[in-house]
Amino acid sequence: MTSTVITNIGELVTNDPAATDLLGTVEQAALVIEGTKVAWVGRAADAPPADEQHDAGGRAVLPGFVDSHSHLVFAGDRSQEFAARMTGTPYAAGGIRTTVAATRAATDEQLISHVTRLVAEMRRQGTTTVEIKSGYGLTVRDEARSLAVARLFTEETTFLGAHVVPDGDPAAYVELVTGPMLDAAKEHARWIDVFCERGAFDEDQARAVLTAGAAVGLRGRLHANQLTYGPGVRLAAELGLVAVDHCTYLADEDFAALRDSGTIATLLPGVEFSTKQPYPDARRLIDAGVKVALASDCNPGSCFTSSLPLCIALAVREMGMTPAEAVHAATYVGAQALDRDDVGALTVGSRADLMILDAPTHVHLAYRPGVPLVAATWVGGRPV
Ligand SMILES: [Zn+2]
Repeated sequence: MTSTVITNIGELVTNDPAATDLLGTVEQAALVIEGTKVAWVGRAADAPPADEQHDAGGRAVLPGFVDSHSHLVFAGDRSQEFAARMTGTPYAAGGIRTTVAATRAATDEQLISHVTRLVAEMRRQGTTTVEIKSGYGLTVRDEARSLAVARLFTEETTFLGAHVVPDGDPAAYVELVTGPMLDAAKEHARWIDVFCERGAFDEDQARAVLTAGAAVGLRGRLHANQLTYGPGVRLAAELGLVAVDHCTYLADEDFAALRDSGTIATLLPGVEFSTKQPYPDARRLIDAGVKVALASDCNPGSCFTSSLPLCIALAVREMGMTPAEAVHAATYVGAQALDRDDVGALTVGSRADLMILDAPTHVHLAYRPGVPLVAATWVGGRPV
């Protein structure tokens, strides 16, 4: 097995939970990789020898981002809808149907090539683990093939047949989602998700979908409280879901429910940026003892960014998070939101998924918004 030492690291973010600071930073550090995993972490002066040596040139090294929420399997373009929104047209859940029509009309090859491009774009920005949802097929065939496409790129696939009711009777559609569609989707999915929102699915429908998914071994996640106050966050807490995503409109009791259940609030500030909505209150969530993750929600309608550095900058500028909290939320807590303990950290035994920043510290991710600071991304111990 080949070993590689990355040395002369100005600041190494380990996310070691045993460290005294949130990010477990080590200055003047080195990191040894054996095969695909981290084998040693510490001060560069103490590093053991290795077969290959890579000089980080005093730059910062961080765990790769874990983007726990994306919708990369789609076709079509909604840039005109975005332009209209920026001049005053409000965002509503129904725009999803535009993408559904384009996705159904696309070939498998077109979908695969589109996801390939977006995953490469994410890697250039430091993302090494990505969750990908279906939800733009909304037929048995198109949901199953969307998930089969997603599976080519990640183990973290999520069945989101309950994204919006495509047409007809909502009750009949929930029957389809929890019956034949779930049967076709389950072999390609690890997770199941519902858009619990006015104009999408209500609490009873969301519960029915998540319960049906659990019965066939899919773990639940929720889109909740994005556009309005509602029952979704409390439902996620009641069901003990690993994560509930958006959390923009929270009532007082939602904070306590999340803290008590341990459900992670995954915030998606690219959405608020791209829809001109108010940002979620990350500061209040963290101060209430709720775990907060950051993810991109990369999708063609409400937020077409794949950039976690942008999300970190927004979280710091607009949501009251410190740079350290934002980086931790996009790495370590992102991994927890996918129930993964092998990624999101650079401690002994972790997968050697990392980024080298063209900057001396993690703070530059927020301090230098819009600047392509990721100089290299490594997955499984090799540059990609
Ligand atoms: Zn989403």
